[in-house]
Amino acid sequence: MTRHYNFCAGPAALPTAVLERAREEMLDYQGRGLSVMEMSHRSDEYVAIAEKAEADLRELLNVPSNYRILFTQGGATQQFAAVPWNLLGPGGTANFIETGIWGKKAIQEARHLFGAAHVAASSAESGHVAVPRQQDIALSSDAAYLHFTPNETIGGLAFDYLPHTQREDGIEVPLVADLSSSILSAPLDVSRYGVIYAGAQKNIGPAGLVVVIVREDLLDRARDDMPTLFSYRQLAEAGSMINTPATYSWYLAGLVFDWLKNDVGGLDAMDAINQRKSDKLYAAIDGSALYSNPIAPINRSRMNVPFVLADSRLDSDFLVEAEQAGLLNLKGHRSVGGMRASIYNAVPEAAVDALVAFMNDFEQRRG
Ligand SMILES: *Cc1c(COP(=O)(O)O)cnc(C)c1O
Repeated sequence: MTRHYNFCAGPAALPTAVLERAREEMLDYQGRGLSVMEMSHRSDEYVAIAEKAEADLRELLNVPSNYRILFTQGGATQQFAAVPWNLLGPGGTANFIETGIWGKKAIQEARHLFGAAHVAASSAESGHVAVPRQQDIALSSDAAYLHFTPNETIGGLAFDYLPHTQREDGIEVPLVADLSSSILSAPLDVSRYGVIYAGAQKNIGPAGLVVVIVREDLLDRARDDMPTLFSYRQLAEAGSMINTPATYSWYLAGLVFDWLKNDVGGLDAMDAINQRKSDKLYAAIDGSALYSNPIAPINRSRMNVPFVLADSRLDSDFLVEAEQAGLLNLKGHRSVGGMRASIYNAVPEAAVDALVAFMNDFEQRRG
């Protein structure tokens, strides 16, 4: 059996050690005689799995005690609706910083549901090659919160700072972050955020699960007229078990958290590895005449590295030969074309080394 290097943007690579452990425990979980997939979510065994996952995530991200962690479903896309439903009081407007496709989708959903969304800043004019600076962010006078996308997965554009959220009247509104593609890639100061959410399929585990971290005082803002399953307050009260949660995805996420803590050595160690990986790949791109990446250096994503070939007629050969070399899923998003290498936590440094060697070799032969 060979596991190739997988650069997929999502669902993405999982750590081999995690998959091996899941395989060992697949048919008979720790001598209980059944698979985790077959357990009641109310059983003592499963509740212990769920609680350990939460405790490990809390420890990894140093989540303060006045924040609740929810394990919910519906993808990050469902949170585009859940966030305004939970945080928009009467009269308030959702505010956004738009830096690419995912942020735009969040804006569209808030507009669709509530009739209004204020774009406080956007990098659209620059073609999303640099994020707006703090002085360019103009909150509306009735802003209820400010939503942003710290790492735009498709464009490969990342914030290099945390936006301040003070309105003109001095009120500081909650900062909301869609961290789907960069959570757990480096330490995070959770206390600076009101809500963090992340679809699991990039840096947490299998698709189907979404992790939400919400400051406790915001739970009271939830509207009464929203669907029960969207309500942060009700999810928190029920320990994320209003209905059957995504039990197996939650278990696998727990294995990933355990791997990050005990195999990798925590988020400082992960951060250093991710820095090395992305430095190597951008250096290869910048040092070549064939490959290029348009993003301002301080806003380059360390997780998603898009690049184009100087001659797009070489694209299909590049992809075919990469696949033959065991380098999978390098095709760029259908909306932008070119290539994209997603180098999430579970993509080892050796994968980046192999990719760089392939890119150099391809350029020498075909560039
Ligand atoms: C992948 C992604 C999404 C969409 O996630 P789904 O789980 O497919 O809804 C949203 N935002 C960001 C930043 C993403 O990377």
